[in-house]
Amino acid sequence: MGNYYQQEIETASREKILEIQNEKIVRQVKHVYENVPYYKKLMDKKGVKPSDIKSIDDIKKLPFLSKDDLREAYPYGLLGTDIKNCVRIQSTSGTTGKRVVAFYTQHDIDIWEECCARAIMAAGGTNEDVCQVCYGYGLFTGGPGLNGGSHKVGCLTLPMSSGNTDRQIQFMMDLNATILCCTPSYAAYIGETLAEKGYRPEDNKLKAGIFGAEPWTEEMRQSIQKSLGIKAYDIYGLTEISGPGVAFECEEQTGMHINEDHFYVEVIDPKTGEVLPEGAKGELVFTSLDKEGFPLLRYRTKDICILSREKCSCGRTHVKMTKPLGRSDDMMIIRGVNVFPSQIEAVLLNEGYTPNYQIVLDRVNNTDTFDIYVELSPEMFSDKIADIQRREIGLNAAMRSMLGIGPKIHLVAPKSIARSEGKAVRMIDKRRLH
Ligand code: ADP
Ligand code: ZN
Repeated sequence: MGNYYQQEIETASREKILEIQNEKIVRQVKHVYENVPYYKKLMDKKGVKPSDIKSIDDIKKLPFLSKDDLREAYPYGLLGTDIKNCVRIQSTSGTTGKRVVAFYTQHDIDIWEECCARAIMAAGGTNEDVCQVCYGYGLFTGGPGLNGGSHKVGCLTLPMSSGNTDRQIQFMMDLNATILCCTPSYAAYIGETLAEKGYRPEDNKLKAGIFGAEPWTEEMRQSIQKSLGIKAYDIYGLTEISGPGVAFECEEQTGMHINEDHFYVEVIDPKTGEVLPEGAKGELVFTSLDKEGFPLLRYRTKDICILSREKCSCGRTHVKMTKPLGRSDDMMIIRGVNVFPSQIEAVLLNEGYTPNYQIVLDRVNNTDTFDIYVELSPEMFSDKIADIQRREIGLNAAMRSMLGIGPKIHLVAPKSIARSEGKAVRMIDKRRLH
């Protein structure tokens, strides 16, 4: 017997899930067509009407949405209900130009938190647990999502937010935290810090961790499990579709069950948009079946994945996705923050630098390092160290304000970054995450 939050739906037969999806999609498409002029226009352009959507199979007829649409429609263009019905806004990590805001009604928050509650219970959580949430709170979905899920399960919730590792450890030890929720890199860092302070893995009361929002490897899982003495579970989500809890791992730890009663998933060829058969590797596309505030249909995530319907020993019947195996765009996730090279370029040009730069990412002690090498123009070049340092500090601040995280800036002499013959090699990622 597994540990479920909503056993009936989590273990429902394939037929039952399809029945739910068929019913919800018809209603949702009608709702979106009538309430979201931006999407209505896309449907009209494609010549599809709500009456063409009779079951979930017909979803193929609908147009895709991408991050570009979200940007174009910013801020209210994809709102699915009167703003007065909304109670919350969340936003993706990072950035100006690429910022995405998502709206939630109370109903949407409830669904989202229930999905997080399913994840917590799949990790063995009950109302006797003490759940320490050290994802960031605020616009970022990590903190609020797991916080809500923890409440729904009835755990004693420690809303720590991120940072201040000494205090995290003090609360963890003094208040007997049993479940830890944060990014995998932060979990690894907490593990190391505990060891530095002389704690052994068995000294804490933790039994499980729910880690996501960024890519992490199986090796990293093993190392976190060992350093904290826990079982480590993956959780996946994105702000556009609600936040963490779109999919979560069960005790089998072989992929994440997608909450298919709320989110319909397809895998497509990122080049042609063709829907691929089960088991094929491609880009994940999600349709939110019952969200009111921000009801995205066929949203292209850019995350590359494989789906599997193999029977799972946990009893859950919902389809499983692999960890994201890569992305079909150039987005980097650095310490949990989404960063695009184009943003870095924009800052450089704004600040009067040449667009000759190189980003180097690495992972040292399980924490991402983020270095940018930037060429000075001959006019900027100076042999005074103080001048260079002043420039580096200024550029770091400008990057931090654009990206939400600060890189280490290295200003280098004109023409010292190797020019490439073809496409410039802008980014060297040594983290080996996939
Ligand atoms: P989140 O709050 O979940 O980080 P964002 O909208 O900021 O949401 O970022 C979503 C992206 O983060 C996803 O499209 C995916 O690329 C990445 N992501 C989220 N969870 C995971 C995970 N468990 N493993 C790998 N990548 C993840
Ligand atoms: Zn399972």
